[in-house]
Amino acid sequence: MTGLTLRLDAARWRMHLQTVAGATPGLVPVAKGNGYGYGLRRLALEAEQTLGVDTIAVGTADEVAEVRDVFSGSIVILTPWRPDDPLATELAEDPRVITTVSRVADLEALTDLNSDPRVLLEVLTSMCRHGIFPDELRRVRPHLEHVRFEGWTIHLPMLNEGRYAEAERLGRATLEAAQGTLWFSHLPPEDVAAVARQLGGAGAAAVPTRLRLGTRLWLGDPSSRTSTATVLDVHRVKRGQRVGYRQRPVWADGWILVIAGGTSHGIGMEAPTPATSVRQRAISVATGSLAAAGRALSPYTVNGKKRWFLEPPHMQSSLVFLPAKETPPAVGEQVPVELRLTTATADRIIED
Ligand SMILES: *Cc1c(COP(=O)(O)O)cnc(C)c1O
Repeated sequence: MTGLTLRLDAARWRMHLQTVAGATPGLVPVAKGNGYGYGLRRLALEAEQTLGVDTIAVGTADEVAEVRDVFSGSIVILTPWRPDDPLATELAEDPRVITTVSRVADLEALTDLNSDPRVLLEVLTSMCRHGIFPDELRRVRPHLEHVRFEGWTIHLPMLNEGRYAEAERLGRATLEAAQGTLWFSHLPPEDVAAVARQLGGAGAAAVPTRLRLGTRLWLGDPSSRTSTATVLDVHRVKRGQRVGYRQRPVWADGWILVIAGGTSHGIGMEAPTPATSVRQRAISVATGSLAAAGRALSPYTVNGKKRWFLEPPHMQSSLVFLPAKETPPAVGEQVPVELRLTTATADRIIED
């Protein structure tokens, strides 16, 4: 078995999924992109079997096909519908699909379908991504008779500052335009519950809400997984010896470890994240500035320590430096590798 292996402690993972679900009323699991490292089908299957939810969310119209056979409930497409997308339009007529609409003109265009599409209306938040401007909300009303209105989507930024106030303000504005469930993203469950009570008003029932979760649900328990990479080759090198695609001189005597995992696995391709020096170094790799910076720390741990890349990783393997005083691993040995699972693709996933 060579390559990049992700081992999943399934019992532990499912316990975590159930804990999060138990603390998140109205949970809508998000299964999109690379399936948070696990793949869309596996997540859809967990949503069906472990979580028993009635709705999941995918990112794009194309992703619906990957989950619809294993998940039996409703499927939200998070990317807003556009009139020039034939697949999204076909899916809008599917009774299991809920289409997100972010412009009044698109809502109008959808009403021409005559199939009562299930529609979530998105309001523009401070994210400034997609959504109807709050001051245009009253324009949606006349069109809602021709669709199955499922509610409002409010996708908030991840920062704490001002988030609750924004949730409340936009929740109020949308409900004034049309009554419906509020579908939040990136708001803690306690805040969702508090906003729901507040908008419901004193002595009245809380307004209905749902909460979409991806990262914190699927990846929230790091102890439920380990990832390893195979050492493919080991070579002794002298200081100053030129190695690799770029023929850069090695900075000291030591060992070159050729380790499984490259750009095709997402190694050295971390999504840029703010701050912290280790992350900054990962960004250097992703942006190709390793040559300028000189070195970048690799995600591979050998003899208890993260080791330096000798050059930016290539398609399926990486060159990593080990100082001469260390005992190198044997060819075929597995070493720990830290994977950022929203950008990673393992060669295999093993459920223990
Ligand atoms: C991707 C996405 C989510 C899930 O995000 P996580 O940070 O992974 O939980 C929720 N809501 C919307 C609208 C999204 O696009």
